[in-house]
Amino acid sequence: MSETIKTDCVIIGAGPVGLFAVFELGILGLESHVVDNLDKIGGQCAELYPDKPIYDIPALPECTGLSLIENLQKQIKPFNTPFHLNERINEISSDNDIWTLKTSRDKVFETPNIFIAGGVGSFEPRKPPIDNVLKYENKGIKYSISDKNFYRDKKVVIFGGGDSALDWTVELSKIASHISLVHRRDEFKAANHTVNQMRDLVKAGKVNLVTKSQISNVQGSDRVEKVIIKDNDGNEKIIECDEILIFYGLKMELGPINDWGLNLHEKQIDVNTEDFETSLPGIFAIGDISYYPGKLKLILSGFHEAALAAQKAFTRAKPDETLTFRYTTSSSDIQKKLGVK
Ligand SMILES: Cc1cc2nc3c(=O)[nH]c(=O)nc-3n(C[C@H](O)[C@H](O)[C@H](O)COP(=O)(O)OP(=O)(O)OC[C@H]3O[C@@H](n4cnc5c(N)ncnc54)[C@H](O)[C@@H]3O)c2cc1C
Repeated sequence: MSETIKTDCVIIGAGPVGLFAVFELGILGLESHVVDNLDKIGGQCAELYPDKPIYDIPALPECTGLSLIENLQKQIKPFNTPFHLNERINEISSDNDIWTLKTSRDKVFETPNIFIAGGVGSFEPRKPPIDNVLKYENKGIKYSISDKNFYRDKKVVIFGGGDSALDWTVELSKIASHISLVHRRDEFKAANHTVNQMRDLVKAGKVNLVTKSQISNVQGSDRVEKVIIKDNDGNEKIIECDEILIFYGLKMELGPINDWGLNLHEKQIDVNTEDFETSLPGIFAIGDISYYPGKLKLILSGFHEAALAAQKAFTRAKPDETLTFRYTTSSSDIQKKLGVK
């Protein structure tokens, strides 16, 4: 187990609201650590609609999901906040106003404040509902790619018909020794340009395309050696392979947060609107995951919630200090924290 990290606040979720919470805590002089299950910063904005325009961020007539996240990252740069990506908080426990959090990678945090900015829950890959297939996870079956060179000179079978499946078919066809793409339909839900690239590779004999078929079984002694696919009429086909990639999209799960004893409202967490604290002292819920009468799941609502929660978090992190309300325009103290010269 790694050493315990002590901090003023642990923020669960690196979506737009988690990022703005870093700012609101930072200008009050509070340090935070951010943990996100995904391999990148940005939550729904980066994962679901990076190129789509957003029109209702105050004073920003138009931005994209991704440019909003890039600007938030710029805004919090002065605080040098550590991000723990590809990691999820599994367990929490408390002792004398201090929360202990354990991550899926065995990191331990101790903090007086937890901000849950988990949006619609953690994004988890959709998996085929076949036990025999799940048995080979990380023994030849993966749901994402962290290093494409791992697939060099390997026989790879990709399942799926969306952007990830098509993008990786095209990309890996440059380095893998053999690529098959298997999809349950004839049509693909991916950018036309990539679909055309894939079809050209099929014509050139560089990609083996199998449609109207699905994964039905995997065979291999210690790890994947063969995958069996079944077409819509029940006919089976065996493809020999070293690696299988399944890109069936992502689903959202509240995950372990469900078991922390918080008052829930369906898949959201009940909070009071004074400081966005939950039913447990020191645990706040902000952004899409919080619930109160009249809640709007908008980015701007999450920003407001983060500002108020940060004020209460200050009183827990620094009980002996008085918090004085100050504008960023006129506070030299805040400007110093932001590195303004
Ligand atoms: C297509 C689309 C268009 C939209 N357009 C607009 C718009 O125009 N204007 C607007 O205001 N809003 C819009 N929204 C909604 C907006 O994106 C959300 O309100 C916003 O993303 C909420 O931010 P958040 O930080 O609360 O959560 P999210 O963006 O959902 O981020 C939450 C993060 O928490 C992580 N997480 C969750 N649980 C855990 C856990 N247990 N451990 C670790 N990490 C965890 C997730 O991986 C995720 O990265 C749109 C949404 C969609 C899908």
